Amino acid sequence: MTQIHKNNVQEVLRKLDEIYGTTKEGFYHQQDWQLLIAIMLSAQSTDKQVDEVLPALFQRYVDVGDMAEAPVEEIESYIHSIGLYKNKAKNSKLCCQQIVEQYNGQVPDTMEKLLTLAGVGRKTANLFLSDAHGIPGITVDTHVFRIARRLGWAKGKNPLQVEEELQKVLPEEHWIRINFQLIYHGRAICTSRKAHCEKCPLEQFCPKIDTDKTGNGQTEKL
Ligand code: SF4
Repeated sequence: MTQIHKNNVQEVLRKLDEIYGTTKEGFYHQQDWQLLIAIMLSAQSTDKQVDEVLPALFQRYVDVGDMAEAPVEEIESYIHSIGLYKNKAKNSKLCCQQIVEQYNGQVPDTMEKLLTLAGVGRKTANLFLSDAHGIPGITVDTHVFRIARRLGWAKGKNPLQVEEELQKVLPEEHWIRINFQLIYHGRAICTSRKAHCEKCPLEQFCPKIDTDKTGNGQTEKL
C-alpha cells in the first residue's frame, strides 16, 4: 500500500519557496464579486487569458447588479477568448443574481455559502477565501492533485480527499501558496504526460510515486 511521506515536507517547501516565490499577483479587480468572477473564469484557462479580458469586462460591469441584469450573450462577447466561455457567461450572470438576491449584494465569506453560488466549486471558493480574506485553504486542482501524490503527501482518489490529507501534512502558512507553486511546477517539470525527474530540483527529496502513470486518476471533477 502506498505510504504517506512526511519526512520530505520541509525540504520540498523550502525549495518551492526558493524557486517559485511565496506570493503571486492576483487578478485585476476592484470589488470582491469581480474577484470571484475572475477566479471562475480562470478554470481550465490560463491566468494570462483571463487577465486580458478583465479590464474591459469590469469597465462594462461595475456593480454586481450590472452583471446580474446583463444578457448572457453580451457577457459572452467580453469573454469569448476564454475556454468554456458560454458556460462561464451563464454561470457568471446566475452567480451575480444570487449574490444580489440572496446575499444583499455581498459575496459570502464562508465555504458553505460560497458553494451555493452558480459555478462555484471548492477550488474557486478556496481561492476566493484565500485571495479576498486571507483565509488559509488548499486549492486542489489537477496539478496539485497529481504532484501531491507523486511527492507521497497524499493518496486520495479525489480532490477533497487530497485536500484533507494535505491539511494534515502541510503547515498552515503554506496552504495558500502551495497551489500556485505546484501549478508552475506541474506545467514546467512534473507534467501530467511525464515527470521530468532528471531535471527536477525536488528530485533528491521525492519518492516519485506513480510516475509511470499519468497521476491524474481522480474520480471527481476538479
Ligand atoms: S522528482 Fe519527479 S515526480 Fe518528483 S516532483 Fe520532481 S518531476 Fe515530479
